Amino acid sequence: MLRIIFFIIFFARITVLNYAQDQFEKDTISTSKGDLVITFIGHGSLMFSFNGKTLHIDPFNKLADYSTLPDADIILVTHHHGDHLDPEAIEKIKGNQTSLIYTELCAEKFSGGTVLKNGETKTIDGVEIESIPAYNLVHMRENGEPFHVKGTCNGYVITFGDKKIYVAGDTENTPEMKALKNINIAFLPMNLPYTMTPAMVADAAKAFKPKILYPYHYGETDISRIVELMKDEKEVETRIRKMK
Ligand code: ZN
Ligand code: ZN
Repeated sequence: MLRIIFFIIFFARITVLNYAQDQFEKDTISTSKGDLVITFIGHGSLMFSFNGKTLHIDPFNKLADYSTLPDADIILVTHHHGDHLDPEAIEKIKGNQTSLIYTELCAEKFSGGTVLKNGETKTIDGVEIESIPAYNLVHMRENGEPFHVKGTCNGYVITFGDKKIYVAGDTENTPEMKALKNINIAFLPMNLPYTMTPAMVADAAKAFKPKILYPYHYGETDISRIVELMKDEKEVETRIRKMK
C-alpha cells in the first residue's frame, strides 16, 4: 500500500513539474548562434534560453514558482521596485556561478550582484548586455518626483548571436530609447500611471522600429489600443502575449 502511495506521489510530482514549465507561452527566435527561446512569465518577468544558458529578467515570485524553473546563469534586474527586485525569487534560481546584474538602488536592498550603470556594457557567457536609461518624463508622483528617476533604473539591450533584444524596464519614450538602432525585438511597458500610455509606446516603436514589438508590463491597460495604433506600421510586427 505504501509503495502504491509513493508511486502516486512520484508521478503526480512529475506532472506538476512539467506543468510548471509548460504553463507559460513561449516564442522561438532564430539567431546566427542557435535558437533563442523566450518564455513569457508575466508582467515584467521573462526567461531567455540560449545555447544551454538561462537568463532571467526581473524574476517575481508572485507570477511563478521559481523553484520549478531552470536555475539562472544570468539574472538581470531592471530596478529596485518590488515587482522587479524580488529577493525570494532570486534566491530560488541563483547558484554560485550565477551572474546577477542590477542597479545601485538594488544593491542597497540585496547584496551579491554587479551594478551596471546607464550606458555601461558587460559580456557574460558570450551574451552582451548594455544598460539603457529607464525613467519618466511625464508621469510623476504627487510630490512631483518621477516614478522612475533618471540614472537610477536600467533597461537592457541583450545581444544573442545576431539578434538584439531590448527589455525596456519601467520607462517612458525617452530620447535614448527613440535613438536605439538595429533592435530586433523590443519589450515596452504600458501600465499606468507608472510607465507609458499606448500612444507613447507607439511613438517610441515608430521611432526606433523594432522588427517585433511585445507590449509587456501592461497591467489593466487596454491592449487593443496599441494594436490599433501600430496597424499601419508595416515594419513593426506587434505581438501580444500574456504579460499583464
Ligand atoms: Zn517601477
Ligand atoms: Zn514595474
